[in-house]
Formats: sequence, structure tokens, C-alpha cells
Amino acid sequence: MVALVTGGSRGIGARTALTLARRGWDVAISYREREADAEAVVEACREAGRRAVAVRADVAVEADLVALFGAVDDRLGRLNVLVNNAGIVPPLGRVEDYTAARLEQVLAVNVAGPFLAAREAVRRMSTAHGGRGGVIVNVSSRAAALGAPGEYVDYAASKAAIDAMTLGLAREVAGEGIRVVGVSPGLIDTEIHAPGRLDRLGHTPPLGRPGTPAEVADAIAWLVSDEASYVTGSTLDISGGR
Ligand code: NAP
Repeated sequence: MVALVTGGSRGIGARTALTLARRGWDVAISYREREADAEAVVEACREAGRRAVAVRADVAVEADLVALFGAVDDRLGRLNVLVNNAGIVPPLGRVEDYTAARLEQVLAVNVAGPFLAAREAVRRMSTAHGGRGGVIVNVSSRAAALGAPGEYVDYAASKAAIDAMTLGLAREVAGEGIRVVGVSPGLIDTEIHAPGRLDRLGHTPPLGRPGTPAEVADAIAWLVSDEASYVTGSTLDISGGR
């Protein structure tokens, strides 16, 4: 069984790759820049006894994504799971200061990338194309519901777009053996946050602390398992009540 995790060199994606490997999945991860980190994740997955590969691929570049899926076909075989995890937050700021370049980048990485990755996955998984089904997991954010005022409303909007994709694509391919689900993390302890943000806000969720990448990864591992076989179109909050 083969899973591809985009943005698997660190943070939630890295931990998801390792968790899946420990549960018996062969794993491909993609990354943008941090090759050494990606190779360390691959090594940890191999130590868990699974096949693992890392491929440099910018999810904002269609040709990179097409090549990424081709590399997974060649090196690991038939894809069963896609975790659309790679994402960015733009610098903290107010809408009145946004530039077109900022918006293009956020939407290219957080929306167009996951859509095109989902396209590649559906072409391989759909029983309508001779595939044998699979699961697509979209990593959204609680920001989609909270709006992220004064921080990054554009990021929140990009994740709301992903939630709509989860619902719509799930219904589109439900009869073709594919489940599409999402997770919506709150404040998770990774490098994505601006300096000091976690210190400032980490205690504010009702559970009183930030979450860990492992807590998100465990939820993803359940969602892709047969235990979640009747779950599609829904997005699970993992936010300590935030
Ligand atoms: P992170 O620690 O900053 O890691 C981001 C990962 O994505 C890295 O592996 C990075 O690769 C990769 N990446 C970034 N831009 C990319 C691109 N254009 N193409 C390919 N890969 C790219 O982030 P994280 O906190 O784990 O976040 C993972 C996902 O969870 C994101 O979608 C994020 O929006 C979402 N999320 C996070 C939180 C949180 O509090 N942490 C909360 C809600 C949602 P390199 O290492 O090569 O740069």
C-alpha cells in the first residue's frame, strides 16, 4: 500500500509519513527546498521497515506535480493514498496591505496545488479509469472557520476553498472507489508559525496547549484506514476545541 504526502520534509507532513510507515504503508514525500530534512524522514520510514522515497516538487508548479506522481508510479507502484499537506502561511498582515503577488502565491500553493494533485490521484485511483480506489486527505485549517483577522485572511480563505474541494470532490468520485476527507488542525507546534506566535497563542485553545504533529498524523492515519470506510466529504477538527 502506497501513500504520497506532499510537504513531508518537516512538521505535520513529516510526522504523517512516519506514522503511516509505522502502520505498514510505503511512503513517498515531496518537499520544496529542505532536501536533508526530507532524506531524514525517508530514513526514519525505512527504519520502520517500509519503502520510502523523497522527491523535490513545488506543488505550485504543475510540471513538478506531474513528475512527482510519475516518480511515485515508477518507484513505489500503484498509489492508494494522497495526503495534500504542503501549505504556506503568508506574512502576518491586514487585507488593506495585500499585494497581487502575495495572493497568487498563497492560492497557487494552498489551492491550485492540492487541486492538481487531486487530479493526478483521481486519474490513478478512480475505478472509472481502471484504478482500484483510494483515499485523498486534504489538510485544511481551523483558520477556514475563524477567518484569521489581522493575520492572514487570505490563508483562511485558501483553506475554506480546500474544505469545499473536500466536499465536492468526495461527492464527485464517491461512486469510483475514492474517499475524500479533510483534517482541520488548530495551533500545531511546527515551524510554520511566525516567530513568537505559538508562545503568544499556544495556551489559548480550550485544551490549554498547542497540538503536536503526531496528534494530527494519528487522525490522518485513521481517516485513510478501513476503519473510516464510511467517512467521506467531511473534515475533522483537530484543534483542542479552538
Ligand atoms: P511546515 O512545518 O512549515 O512544513 C511545511 C511543509 O510543506 C514542508 O515540508 C515544506 O517543504 C512543504 N512546502 C511548503 N511549500 C511547498 C511547496 N510550494 N511545494 C512543496 N512543498 C512545500 O508546516 P506545517 O505546520 O507542518 O503545515 C502543514 C499543513 O498543515 C499546511 O497545509 C498548513 O497550512 C496546515 N496547518 C498547519 C497548522 C499549524 O498550526 N502548524 C494549523 C492548521 C493547518 P520544505 O521543508 O522543503 O520547505
